Amino acid sequence: MPYSFSMGKQEPEGAKIAVLRDSLLQWYVEHRRDLPWRRRTDPYAIWVSEVMLLQTRVAVVVDRYREFMARFPTLIALALASEDEVLALWSGLGYYRRARLLHRAAQFVAERLGGNLPASAAQLRALPGIGAYTAAAIASIAYGEPVAVVDGNVERVICRLAGWAAGGRNGEGARLRRKIEQRAGQWLDPARSGDWNQAMMELGATLCTPRNPQCLVCPLAACCRTRGEHETAARPPMVSRTVGYALVVRAPAPGPGGRVVLLEQRPAEQPVMPGLWELPALIDAETPPEELRMTLRHAILQVNYFVRIRTLHEDRVEALTAKSGQRRWTPLDEAARLPLTGLARKVLMRAHLLPAPRIETSAPAQDAD
Ligand code: SF4
Repeated sequence: MPYSFSMGKQEPEGAKIAVLRDSLLQWYVEHRRDLPWRRRTDPYAIWVSEVMLLQTRVAVVVDRYREFMARFPTLIALALASEDEVLALWSGLGYYRRARLLHRAAQFVAERLGGNLPASAAQLRALPGIGAYTAAAIASIAYGEPVAVVDGNVERVICRLAGWAAGGRNGEGARLRRKIEQRAGQWLDPARSGDWNQAMMELGATLCTPRNPQCLVCPLAACCRTRGEHETAARPPMVSRTVGYALVVRAPAPGPGGRVVLLEQRPAEQPVMPGLWELPALIDAETPPEELRMTLRHAILQVNYFVRIRTLHEDRVEALTAKSGQRRWTPLDEAARLPLTGLARKVLMRAHLLPAPRIETSAPAQDAD
């Protein structure tokens, strides 16, 4: 049942905001998802979860977060780790620059601030890789600072509640963004800023989704001016590309040790995913059917990659692949701990060469963040 309340024109603005806050917070207490980072309130745990959640869906983050926190339970443990180990545990989340900045910031805090994260959003923003969103999330959830978080979910919820179109052309976008931030600050419950921010994001992720919002069960339906999808700018169309990679596996040698796979490290000067390990790229993605091991789709930003994986004998690798970085025959157990690209990890798992991650059953299937 939706929580119903009146937001009539005759009511003063303060009373409307009080009803809005009560309704959303009551809904959040009853319906929030049981996510692992919500069981901790220390700023380090919140920081890691918020960085992982930037541009990555909750369902993908849950397992990665658990593994990351099991290996690096404290900021000091993270600061002392090697970058390769941090990137390996980040594998599958994408946007590896986030992991590098998180690691560097942890080292900075460990060395210069005695291992304690600053307690205000303004101070947090001075750390490498911490922007307005992450600083506000940590400061409000861990320290109770009354600062509003504005991510894509919150923007959408506010636009719909206020009846604003999200056009984004001719400077409208910047003006709208300022209006949204102002409105987010007005509606924020200063006494429960952490819960309020999480409730707004939760509503956007579970009910007020980009498509098919669940207005009939929304706690804020009575005061919403849109009650459905709002006007948004057209998205740039997806582009398709076909690429190919070679899967080259050596049978186990006599004695201890298992199979080894040929991997290549992307050069450090590459703008995208520098230093990560991947399968050797084929010069020509066209593959004879008898050598086609699998085809899969892998989306990065606006590009849909249709990826052909070709099984090759090592004698033919030099002729059929384009080498751009150092290559290494890597035992599979070691490959699992390397910073692999998301695509390489996906292929090795589908080929049953790496174990698949555990399936998280308590996380909801639907999230739109
Ligand atoms: S009523 Fe619908 S559009 Fe409005 S906030 Fe709720 S889910 Fe979003």
